[in-house]
Amino acid sequence: MTNSQEKNTVKNTDIPGGVIDRVTGPLVRAHGMSEAKLYEVVKVSDEKLLGEIIELHGDVAAIQVYEETAGIGPGDPVFRTGRTMSVALAPGLLESIYDGVQRPLKAIEIAAGNHFIKRGIEADAVDMAKKWKFSPVVKVGDTVVEGDVLGEVQETSVIMHKVMVPPGEGGKVASIQSGEFDVTEEIATLTRADDSTASISMLQYWPIRKARPKISKIFPSEPLRTGGRSIDTFFPIAKGGAGCIPGPFGAGKTVTQQSIAKYCDAEIIVYIGCGERGNEMTEVLNEFPHLIDPNTGEPLMKRTILIANTSNMPVAAREASVYTGITIAEYYRDMGYNVALMADSTSRWAEAMREISGRLEEMPGEEGYPAYLSSRTAEFYERAGIVKALGSDGRIGSLTVIGAVSPPGGDLSEPVSQATLRVTKTFWSLDADLAYKKHFPSINWLTSYSLYAPNFEDFWAKEIAPDFADVRKKAMTLLEQESKLLEIVRLVGMESLSNGDRLVLKVAGMIREDFLFQNAFDPDDAYTPLKNQYGLLKSIMVFFEAGQAVVNKPDFDFKDFADMKSLAGYTDLKANTKATPEVYQSYQDEARAEINALA
Ligand code: ADP
Repeated sequence: MTNSQEKNTVKNTDIPGGVIDRVTGPLVRAHGMSEAKLYEVVKVSDEKLLGEIIELHGDVAAIQVYEETAGIGPGDPVFRTGRTMSVALAPGLLESIYDGVQRPLKAIEIAAGNHFIKRGIEADAVDMAKKWKFSPVVKVGDTVVEGDVLGEVQETSVIMHKVMVPPGEGGKVASIQSGEFDVTEEIATLTRADDSTASISMLQYWPIRKARPKISKIFPSEPLRTGGRSIDTFFPIAKGGAGCIPGPFGAGKTVTQQSIAKYCDAEIIVYIGCGERGNEMTEVLNEFPHLIDPNTGEPLMKRTILIANTSNMPVAAREASVYTGITIAEYYRDMGYNVALMADSTSRWAEAMREISGRLEEMPGEEGYPAYLSSRTAEFYERAGIVKALGSDGRIGSLTVIGAVSPPGGDLSEPVSQATLRVTKTFWSLDADLAYKKHFPSINWLTSYSLYAPNFEDFWAKEIAPDFADVRKKAMTLLEQESKLLEIVRLVGMESLSNGDRLVLKVAGMIREDFLFQNAFDPDDAYTPLKNQYGLLKSIMVFFEAGQAVVNKPDFDFKDFADMKSLAGYTDLKANTKATPEVYQSYQDEARAEINALA
């Protein structure tokens, strides 16, 4: 075992520690803990409930307990483990469904003997007995540094797991195996610079609160393609970007996050259900295993890790679930993959912080949240990014983080939304009014923004169409003009508008209904490739431009537009997500010809 691994072994014998003085909800205070370290994992009482030291004063420790503490009381023992809260990283993570502290739900169920989770259950994060076929990519005598790939394992049908030299390790390859091994067996030994030997297995551990190291961060210049028209074309997020979806209850946060998880072009998805209602997570758990990834044609679970931490689970574990998820995500990023992480909802995590902070009797900040709410939120989102991963082969990986926020009453001035907005660059503002009108996704086109969009102009021009950015900008301008015109209509009526203004309203309406409106539950509509998004929007804008040339002619009757054959075709165009550029071109030609004939 390597040095870095020894420090973080999950199952070592429990060291007798202190004695409980006081239990308040998820917070336990114990004395006799002078040997303990901050953030050390402890087992509380003879039931061995999992906890973590979050404050130390002399020999008194404040312990955040990740399981229900009912029945635990003063005088009960606390055991130390000597390690910090860590995740196990090895083949077998994909397709797993974990609780907040990386225990597979299946293993918990088996250990408990029924569906009800008993306390103090220990379960390995990955199957320790399963044999994986390890194929080395280095040979004896090679020199390797931290992050270098030693070999590969086909983890699922779509993902090749790279077994990397753990951070802090390196040297000359003294031995390297090939064949079938379980994750704890030695697959390589390295001779370090000081002549000592490092034994490497496929399993490594990493403390969840600490970002995994990288060589450098890279400027994000490519969008994450989600198939959502409103997202990809109007408010895109970068691969390696950070985005936030705030919205009141029922506005569509969960549906939006789930659609992104299903369809986006990241190779790995980590989905954290954090403190949301159990039935929403059940939906994810039931649905995901049956879904097919449109990018690979394989089941979505083959690239997915789910972390289920529902509202009836102990609040403290929400924090652990968020950190566990992001650490696993970073691990796959380090292999050179594009990873997308969704957290639904970070407000529940913030509430957990508030509860623990209150019990610690800390000085409260705004609305009772702890003063460190902003810095914790920032630390979390800053783990997103495109990175040059550790290792000598220049691997590039990305981690995109998308967090839902549920502000009470939809009020974005509340502290969690504000803290999140400061550190995320894409903002999808879900609107209760739009949701009420059943306009989905209810992403408000006037208040949402993407600060990444200017970075993508080269990408769009090269990959999609030279005028993509231009068409996008013009369409967004039309929507802004529409909102101003609607204000005028409300005051003085439609009659006051010129034909030119009416055309703006007509085309803005088409953008809203034929482009932005997208039903996440219709398999044809739910996912539109970026090229088709462009084709559709361009067709609408061609209508606008051709229309502009005729509406101001003196004898033009606006009603003529209504009878146009080509207009009716736009709705079909939207449903036809497999249309080729030629199809869009023929629609555009037809619309132009018909409008010119009107003149
Ligand atoms: P939230 O998580 O914000 O409370 P949900 O994501 O659960 O809200 O969405 C509430 C309801 O709105 C969903 O059950 C669904 O009926 C509808 N909905 C949301 N987004 C869409 C969408 N893109 N397409 C169709 N229906 C949607």
